[in-house]
Amino acid sequence: MMTPSKRLALKVLTTGALAALSATSLLAQAQTTPPLPVVASFSILGDLVKVVGGERVQVSTLIGIDADAHAFEPSPADAKTILGARLLVLNGLHFEPWAKKLTQAAGYKGATLIASDGIKTRPSPKSRAVQHDDDHDDDHDHGDADPHAWQDPTQVMVYVKNIAKALAKLDPAGADSYKRNSEAYLKELQALDDFAKAAFAPVPAAQRKVITGHQAFNYLGARYQIQFLAAQGVSTQAEPSAKAVAQLIAQIRKDKIRAIFPENNSSTQLLAQVAQESGVKVGAKLYTGALSGPNAPGSTYLAMMRYNITQLAEGMKRN
Ligand SMILES: [Zn+2]
Repeated sequence: MMTPSKRLALKVLTTGALAALSATSLLAQAQTTPPLPVVASFSILGDLVKVVGGERVQVSTLIGIDADAHAFEPSPADAKTILGARLLVLNGLHFEPWAKKLTQAAGYKGATLIASDGIKTRPSPKSRAVQHDDDHDDDHDHGDADPHAWQDPTQVMVYVKNIAKALAKLDPAGADSYKRNSEAYLKELQALDDFAKAAFAPVPAAQRKVITGHQAFNYLGARYQIQFLAAQGVSTQAEPSAKAVAQLIAQIRKDKIRAIFPENNSSTQLLAQVAQESGVKVGAKLYTGALSGPNAPGSTYLAMMRYNITQLAEGMKRN
């Protein structure tokens, strides 16, 4: 039930938002070009598009902050959102299995960019903690590259170049602006990569092992030589068996793994159980597939990465 005071607050908020909106559209009219409407599938991609697009684009995201992309099911409102877009930015690598159906249902006629196009993909790791429950033979390739490539800043450099190119194609007048913005951001990504290397450098090789909720960090692990073991598979939707969890706990003991990290966008119950049974401390929530709100440490891609890296390095060094 909405209380009268809440309703009033909402109304005030809406009025304020409308005022802000009309100020923006006045500004846009003054510039003669309205911002390019772009939809990104999830918040991390949305942040990259905002950085590259700057004031020339208006970005909406389908999967919001702290939301689990693996559990996403599009609503009619999402169909409406993409219908208004000139560009739809997807991660690709089967991260958005719903996208084709949604664009078809919406009758979307705009462009689609697969932001990960041209990256060096890594295969989806078969988590040792998950029993594979496909009901078909598994000796054929079902194209399962690991989708979580944004966890490696050097792969995100490819994303950013792709986004700049796609925006320039739709808005040639903004090409210089997109180039400038993307080049500045590429420097930030390089700085992030340097930051990560420096943060992990003091961690001895034998201690570079971490437990996380689902297999979201394999690109990060490959880039900085860290082994990530996950209680779930590559999707948060996988259900590990009791036997698999017991094996994970045995491995934690054997390898003296010091750090277990939950995620901002999925359940922590399983990890809490693993932590309790293995006696390992649970670390801070890491950002895997979604940004946080503005008042938490993962509100931008760069912020979430620095936060994750710092937490991981501290956790692995712990005695
Ligand atoms: Zn994921």
